[in-house]
Amino acid sequence: MDDFAVVGSGIGGACSALFLSKKFQTTLYEKELTLGGCASTFKHQKNFYNAGATTFAGYEKNTYMYDFFEHHHINFQKKLLPSALSVFINGKKIIRFQDMDAFLDEINSAFYHQNNKAFYELVQTINKDFFTINDYYYSNASAFEKLKSLSSFKTLFLKFYPYLFTNAQVFIQNYFGKIDERYLDFLDNQVLIVAQAKLHDVNFLTAALALSYQFMDNYYIFGGMGSIFDAISLKVPNIKTHTFIEKMTRTSSHFILHTSKAEFEAKNIVLNTPIFDAKSLFADSKTKEYLSHYTSLNKDISAFMVYLQIDTSKVFDHHYQIILDKPIKYTTSNSLFISFGDLDDAKMKQSVTISVHTQTKLWENAQNLEQKMELEAIIKKIICEHLGLEKRAILSSFSATPQTFKRFINRSTLGGIPMRKENFLYRLPSNNSPIKGLYHVGDTTFPAQGWLGVMLGVRNLEKILCH
Ligand SMILES: Cc1cc2nc3c(=O)[nH]c(=O)nc-3n(C[C@H](O)[C@H](O)[C@H](O)COP(=O)(O)OP(=O)(O)OC[C@H]3O[C@@H](n4cnc5c(N)ncnc54)[C@H](O)[C@@H]3O)c2cc1C
Repeated sequence: MDDFAVVGSGIGGACSALFLSKKFQTTLYEKELTLGGCASTFKHQKNFYNAGATTFAGYEKNTYMYDFFEHHHINFQKKLLPSALSVFINGKKIIRFQDMDAFLDEINSAFYHQNNKAFYELVQTINKDFFTINDYYYSNASAFEKLKSLSSFKTLFLKFYPYLFTNAQVFIQNYFGKIDERYLDFLDNQVLIVAQAKLHDVNFLTAALALSYQFMDNYYIFGGMGSIFDAISLKVPNIKTHTFIEKMTRTSSHFILHTSKAEFEAKNIVLNTPIFDAKSLFADSKTKEYLSHYTSLNKDISAFMVYLQIDTSKVFDHHYQIILDKPIKYTTSNSLFISFGDLDDAKMKQSVTISVHTQTKLWENAQNLEQKMELEAIIKKIICEHLGLEKRAILSSFSATPQTFKRFINRSTLGGIPMRKENFLYRLPSNNSPIKGLYHVGDTTFPAQGWLGVMLGVRNLEKILCH
């Protein structure tokens, strides 16, 4: 019998299986043939595409993610980018350079404000200070654990308390005095792509961390995000892909994992599937009841994706955001996020991944195929107009709705738990649970989503299990 079964090989599951395999008999179970979930790279008609995640930010010395990959000798080919993102808004282009002076020139030419310099320097300082603090620990599994967590947040609290309890929109309005509506829209959309919530929903610490990813090292990953998982899979001895865990039952000493063809046993489970839907995986009422506490954290945030193959001599930046004046039909957003393959990346150079926020409830009806084709056409038109991509340069395209994600990676809500003020401690699910032997990791648990956020959850799980 295994010590640990890790169910799901997203960022959280794959990296947890990596550290667990060093100490315990562990098996990683994945429904699909490839690892990575929202951050995977998939093949469609001979071509490769990043499924969701395309950016890799904050990979630098002394961050947990960097040190973890170094420690486990995870090697992948990457290229440091001078800027995180190029944003189109109001007929202007703002390049979010890593270099402060270069970025200040950009933002001042689009939205001049005398406080811009001080504001972005503050945001950068908050980011630097935040990532030097690593003594916090989070668990809400018992009253004792809650107290222990509270005391571990002391350094973080003392450093950031003015920003923890200030609404980001209020903070920004006070900081800038009068601020252009479109500038606020720009800031809102920058925070949204990282935190899955807008300024009025988050505290200023969350907003500052979301805004500051451009000042960290941002890399292009050759061969797609999936190449990181290929490197991880070389170091995890027991992986069962194409294995969908349909149900888990609990005995007094261990768990039994059921697939349509077989049963596996493990003393402990690390669940990397979204916590909102997890209760349907368990047969016993105690686990179901515990997991049902988190159903209400699901705010139905999802994505509509368009994937392109292009053939053009035009050279593009790696990542763009196009912010429009009005919301896009069938979506919940007025902005698109577009990522291009690098010209030196033989596998991905013609591949484009485009995403926009939507809700699963907009994609549940029979007429969705027409709706899907209509939205795909709208998005292609916006891209061609704003980026100067010729229509005939698009060799092929297809799209994915929240239902497509459900079919492939078994989740239709995407992007984790928005960092809203009402999710403040202890409402966030922790990486351990009151159910003996049941652990969680991934973007619907502490502390956040994306590579950096999920990896902080992996660090917390490592502290819980190995220290
Ligand atoms: C459109 C989009 C764009 C994004 N862009 C970025 C970005 O640019 N940069 C960034 O850092 N982050 C980005 N993110 C966020 C990031 O991708 C996610 O937060 C992260 O990948 C989630 O990882 P996870 O560990 O929660 O696992 P998930 O990605 O949720 O993976 C879970 C895995 O479990 C498997 N699984 C589910 N149920 C079962 C079962 N019953 N049995 C076996 N296996 C199962 C699934 O197949 C899947 O592989 C983006 C997300 C989306 C949706």
